[in-house]
Amino acid sequence: MIGHARSSALVLGAGIQGLCTALALDRAGWEVVLLDRAPEPMLRTSLRGEGKLHLGYVYGNEPDRTTARLMVDGALSFSEHLDQWLPEKVPWAALRSDPFVYAVLAATMVSPETLAGHYRWVDEAVARGIAAGMTYAGARTFSVTARLACPGDHGYSGDVIAAYQTSEIAVDPRWLRSAFIGALRSRAIPFLAGCVIRSVARTPHGFAVTATRETGESFTRRADAVINCLWDGRLAIDATMDIPPPRTCFYRLKYAVRGRMKPATARPTTTTFALGPFGDVVCWADGSVYLSWYPVCLAGVSGGLEPPCSWRPALDHPETTAAEHDLARRSLAALAERIPALRGLQVDSVKAGVVVAWGENDIDQPQSELHQRHAIGVHDHDGYLSIDTGKFTTAPLFAAQVADRLGTARHHRRS
Ligand SMILES: Cc1cc2nc3c(=O)[nH]c(=O)nc-3n(C[C@H](O)[C@H](O)[C@H](O)COP(=O)(O)OP(=O)(O)OC[C@H]3O[C@@H](n4cnc5c(N)ncnc54)[C@H](O)[C@@H]3O)c2cc1C
Repeated sequence: MIGHARSSALVLGAGIQGLCTALALDRAGWEVVLLDRAPEPMLRTSLRGEGKLHLGYVYGNEPDRTTARLMVDGALSFSEHLDQWLPEKVPWAALRSDPFVYAVLAATMVSPETLAGHYRWVDEAVARGIAAGMTYAGARTFSVTARLACPGDHGYSGDVIAAYQTSEIAVDPRWLRSAFIGALRSRAIPFLAGCVIRSVARTPHGFAVTATRETGESFTRRADAVINCLWDGRLAIDATMDIPPPRTCFYRLKYAVRGRMKPATARPTTTTFALGPFGDVVCWADGSVYLSWYPVCLAGVSGGLEPPCSWRPALDHPETTAAEHDLARRSLAALAERIPALRGLQVDSVKAGVVVAWGENDIDQPQSELHQRHAIGVHDHDGYLSIDTGKFTTAPLFAAQVADRLGTARHHRRS
């Protein structure tokens, strides 16, 4: 902690991490300003995923279960934090997707028996949390994982050799986005749109953040604390504070497809394919369906301080290109081979987001660090905090940790 009174904070990046951090600090009495290059909050990665509140089932390839433990902590505190920070009552039951079945493909890297042991471990960790008073997406009840006797009865093709019904769910990021925007308004937290953050510098009295507007005009804002929640833009700004990345970082451009089932077609089973060729299918209460099949939806991999400029059109432009339409068609076809009901899906949109992860190997490699996401969280550099969000699931947990570290703002300003 630095010695003088602190009361103002600049939060860089208005994805789920920046939004939660801004609301947590506002609640602790900080005067918060939120900045982002986008025209509105939460238009990027946080909106483009399925919003699964990971309980750690997917990390069945990690021997010491550190990531699974962190996911349980993140998932079981997610709704409690948002219930505190959002002024509107959150209708958790309506936001929940169908619960996930973990479907094991013939090409699995981990045997069904080993996976079943891991799922039991997760179930026990979740049950302990719930017994201690925690909640999972607003619920205080939880059913343990059950092996489905015959995967074919649940709409899977013969490529699925085992299937496990879990209680894991996703919460709809589209609803959360509007709730966050409502919360910024009702708390009168300023959101500065269209600001590209260029650098942060320590000053004798705090920090100076330099940004440029779309017009090219550059400006500087000062504050007592700065919280970097820029996700794929985070390491480049850390570098301006002379903070090098601790390890090799890799960016992955990953697409997801959204659609809706045609009338009179069966609803597909909400599924995560694990562990090997990876994919997700998520059904929402409003009839919409999310899907991503990693072997097709992974459109680029790049190392370095930030993703290449060539990814910008995929991330920023609202129009869908012919190549993106084709990617949606191929993902759907690949998933429909495993879940034939998906042949009845009408595609509405295909959008890309960036996955930020340490290490060079890909998800189909057992040693990939995508299977071990525990090296994430809050890095505190004495008033400059940089958050590696890691997952949507852990964003509220890390935001609460930032508020704990910075403490309650003292409202006397420096002269
Ligand atoms: C397809 C896909 C599916 C996923 N599914 C899940 C899931 O089901 N569950 C889960 O837990 N996680 C999931 N994830 C991961 C999860 O989405 C991310 O961990 C999380 O959304 C990151 O949140 P964030 O706020 O840090 O980043 P973002 O939401 O990307 O927010 C960062 C913000 O910073 C802004 N920004 C960046 N650089 C600059 C700059 N220089 N100047 C100004 N603004 C800048 C961006 O415009 C953006 O608004 C998924 C990721 C992808 C890509």
